[in-house]
Amino acid sequence: MMNTATPNKDTDLARLLNKMTKGDNTDECLTCGACNSRCTWFDGPGGPMPRQMVRMAALGLEQSLVDSNMLWDCLVCNRCTQDCPMGITMDLVVTRARSLAAADGQIPGDIKKGITTRLELGDVNGLTTEEFVETVEWMSEEFSDDMENPDAQILHDQPGCKFLYLPNPRELGINLMHLTAMAKLFYAMGETWTLSSHHTDVTNWGYFVGKDDVAKEMVRMVVEPAEALGIETLVLSECGHGYHVLKCRAAELLGREPKFNVVSIPELCLSYAQKGVLTFDPDVHPYEIAYHDPCNVARKSGGYDPPRQLLAMCCHGVKELVPNREDGVCCGGGGGILQDSTTTKKRMITGKPKADQMRATGLKHLATACLSCHRQLGELSTHFELGMKVETVAALASESLLL
Ligand code: SF4
Ligand code: SF4
Repeated sequence: MMNTATPNKDTDLARLLNKMTKGDNTDECLTCGACNSRCTWFDGPGGPMPRQMVRMAALGLEQSLVDSNMLWDCLVCNRCTQDCPMGITMDLVVTRARSLAAADGQIPGDIKKGITTRLELGDVNGLTTEEFVETVEWMSEEFSDDMENPDAQILHDQPGCKFLYLPNPRELGINLMHLTAMAKLFYAMGETWTLSSHHTDVTNWGYFVGKDDVAKEMVRMVVEPAEALGIETLVLSECGHGYHVLKCRAAELLGREPKFNVVSIPELCLSYAQKGVLTFDPDVHPYEIAYHDPCNVARKSGGYDPPRQLLAMCCHGVKELVPNREDGVCCGGGGGILQDSTTTKKRMITGKPKADQMRATGLKHLATACLSCHRQLGELSTHFELGMKVETVAALASESLLL
């Protein structure tokens, strides 16, 4: 394949890249290979080789890059980017290449379908507005009963609230308990909050496929109804890539700043705990818990400390996986691979380095601040017989809340 490719600098990908002095400047690659040594999952027949991808982009070998399968093997985790002396950012290179017309046929069917559904209905799983309203109203009644307080409600489309909570689609499908746990946290804060039936979904799969027009429309579908409700702060469910897009890329995509603050639910809980409004009983979890950094929250958005600080209030100590923070290893489910239902076997290969880290802690409990990582880590625990229970940080906070 490579022997027949002809270098060409005048290509679609070259026009998409090399616009920045840092980040997507593939022309500046030194071919040093530092990136290759940082990628954790190359496995002979599969796995990305970041230096090769960057050089293919720089030389205009677009078709070779698209044909290589590396585009959809890459977890878009940016671990390789951390040591690049030229600051070449792999998620930009890979997602731009995924956006090429030639790469369209390689987009996993589940991702294509999810994007269409999300753009049509505001929810990647196809929850309609009527189903959303019915689900939330039923949950609200149950929540009032649980709290033994008719004022404890889960509202939707309520104008003038301080907070709008943007859930992960799993919280309105297979994991309703998680949404109830988040409602308990808002209830304890004593602030007004609402959901919105117009945009029920924190995810943005436009980011996975590198299509700015799709990513922008998904951001607009969140931002405009939120602004119409007049909220002060948009509170994001624990979702790594959703957090990265809405916190770090929304203004660039929209061409303006949203008229509200954006925080994740662990960040919000931590700030209310630091003000003394939320208090937690660490004896509810009388053991040490390991913490996994979601790549999109940590390395790509700088959110290292708030989840750790909140977790430390809710258990008997936080243990670090090794390596962690900037050097943290992807759970093996990043970049859209988790959302592709054909990858279950492959994800046990991409996740093996993380499973080894989990085993090395010698612990039985692991927390993370992303519901996608949560699913992948739980599957790793089962597959590799680690016996580790995996929770999200916000769910643990809700469990240990003192009301
Ligand atoms: S680390 Fe950066 S400069 Fe070195 S080969 Fe990789 S992309 Fe090129
Ligand atoms: S972004 Fe992650 S998976 Fe992709 S090449 Fe870099 S280290 Fe490997």
